[in-house]
Amino acid sequence: MILSGCQSPKKPTVQGSANVSSTTSTQKSKKTTATTSSESSSGNSATSSSQATAASSSSTDVDAQTQDNSPTNVTENRAATNHIVSADSYAYSAAEVQTAMTGQPTTITQPTVFLTFDDGVNQTMTPRVLQTLAEQQVHATFFVVGNTLTNAANQNMLQQEYQAGHGIAVHSYDHNYNLLYPNRVANAAAIVREYQQTNTLMTQILGNDFTTKVWRYPGGHMSWRNLAPADAQLKQLGVTWMDWNGAVGDALGNSGPKTVAAMLQYHANSLTAFPTSPVKVILMHDAIDKELTLQALPEVITYYKTHGYQFGILS
Ligand SMILES: [Zn+2]
Repeated sequence: MILSGCQSPKKPTVQGSANVSSTTSTQKSKKTTATTSSESSSGNSATSSSQATAASSSSTDVDAQTQDNSPTNVTENRAATNHIVSADSYAYSAAEVQTAMTGQPTTITQPTVFLTFDDGVNQTMTPRVLQTLAEQQVHATFFVVGNTLTNAANQNMLQQEYQAGHGIAVHSYDHNYNLLYPNRVANAAAIVREYQQTNTLMTQILGNDFTTKVWRYPGGHMSWRNLAPADAQLKQLGVTWMDWNGAVGDALGNSGPKTVAAMLQYHANSLTAFPTSPVKVILMHDAIDKELTLQALPEVITYYKTHGYQFGILS
């Protein structure tokens, strides 16, 4: 419960014991963290407009055809990736991070935090998160839902994330648990299709220097059955799935933190799950109703600055 993921639009009844840590005692049970998730499968938060095609952005297509002076063209020898050139210095392999976050040794030895934001983009919260990150001069990774990218304004928001030096990752196309995990069992073909559909659309928007190999399962890898075939197919494509080992509790609905102070306490408690890892991957959301997350964000960032962390993005 400490680390549960995307919020169901309905009351998250399954999170029974998720009357979380926040305001009360010091630390609650951590044993359950990565291996369990209480997230409900009862709903999905995105519309299931699977008809919305990746070819929606005719304007970007025109641009691509009529202009060859894209600023990213200067990097002809650089393989396509999920961030701009200037972000290379703080981009880390998601596979390395996945290993490191469980406390296993990797080349990442310096304390490093990866702020992550799921469920965008939108015009309500995404720009405000971007503004806060800019003010704080730190970078994050955005796990974007593909079907948010079918209008020009949101495509521009993705551009802003990318050009500001943040990492771009995929959080499915439709964010529909019933399609991705019917009866809680993973549908590998649907999962891979949603990754590819979203990555293709992102590349149309951001240009051929872009591709992303980072994926987060809606609800978290920890929540579903029989993910091995999907994991294997994603791996064949070079794609790493990424959960988290810290959270602010903003996916818990009514049972989640109600104040900034409670959210910060929840965050602090969540970090005890994997105490030996130098790497923290923090689950947050920039969905339209995550006002409290935005309010807590400066203090979450301050926590990591004062504890000597560098800020990385997942690549
Ligand atoms: Zn989500």
